[in-house]
Amino acid sequence: MSAKEVYQLDALDADLKELHPPARLAVLGHPVAHSRSPQMHQPALAAAGIDAQYIRIDVPPERLGEAFEKLRAAGFVGANLTIPLKQEAVSLVSDLDEAARLSRSVNTVLFDGDTVRGYSTDGAGFVRAIREAFWVDVRDLRVMILGAGGGAGRALAVQCAMERCSRLVLVNRTVEKVQALEKELSPFFRSDRLLGPTDRMAAIGFEVPRLQAELEYIDLVVNATSLGMKRSDPPVLPSSLIHPALIVYDTVYASGKSRLLEDAQANGARTGDGLSMLLHQGALAFEIWFNRDAPLEAMRTGLYGTAS
Ligand code: NAP
Repeated sequence: MSAKEVYQLDALDADLKELHPPARLAVLGHPVAHSRSPQMHQPALAAAGIDAQYIRIDVPPERLGEAFEKLRAAGFVGANLTIPLKQEAVSLVSDLDEAARLSRSVNTVLFDGDTVRGYSTDGAGFVRAIREAFWVDVRDLRVMILGAGGGAGRALAVQCAMERCSRLVLVNRTVEKVQALEKELSPFFRSDRLLGPTDRMAAIGFEVPRLQAELEYIDLVVNATSLGMKRSDPPVLPSSLIHPALIVYDTVYASGKSRLLEDAQANGARTGDGLSMLLHQGALAFEIWFNRDAPLEAMRTGLYGTAS
């Protein structure tokens, strides 16, 4: 089995020779010890009958190109990328899928001969997570993304635009970031569809009166800010703004329920946390690597601890 929790790039060549079965997949990050991806991908490999290991490798951003070269030469199938490598990878891969190109973020790479292909499965994983949990399609929803100017928020906003959701409200502390994003994504929303009194897109800051006005015309609110990872964080949305008709999804998957989800449940809204997005982006990565359906239930059990 895998001997180390985290592998270091400098000792990687020697370490890989000691691994049986061989490592063929990895999550790369800096730091990377927190990553829960091995918890779902190792069971997935076992369930699919693939005799290989999925390991964690610590890769400083400035050495990501070198890491790709080492993994490709060692016969790796692909890798996942986490903070802070998703943006770094964009200029290092040979080609990008549409989601990766628009979100300027790569969370999955495939080593295909001499080519390193880059994908972003975060947004599509989110869409699957919403469909599975709430039996609704993002394309039919009016969506508000809190933190749409950050890495994850941008990926979700891009996916919502690609799905041509009914309405998209981009919220960010640094409002200039979402104003620029709104311009980029507006071509997806050009249509004759009549919606009533609201525009199909808006880009706003966190001012409470504006949030309150927009939330009247929203079905799904997503927290993609980094707030909520610590219990001491301020609330991302005042509890009084959360109405019972909302679905509230928190991309954070820290231990225990986030304050946002506690508030949402107390107000009668339906809720979901980021673990389901992690699961489905991982399943989509598996599909890219092996060109077959992912063993979703094995992955779910690995991630959640029990079958559900
Ligand atoms: P990031 O690129 O650093 O973006 C952070 C975002 O949070 C930015 O929009 C930032 O706004 C905002 N923010 C930070 N502090 C804030 C505050 N005090 N008030 C309001 N907004 C604030 O981080 P990221 O990589 O996108 O990660 C964001 C979250 O997504 C994390 O909680 C992470 O766990 C989660 N995530 C989950 C998954 C999953 O699979 N479930 C995948 C990826 C990420 P400014 O632009 O104004 O700085």
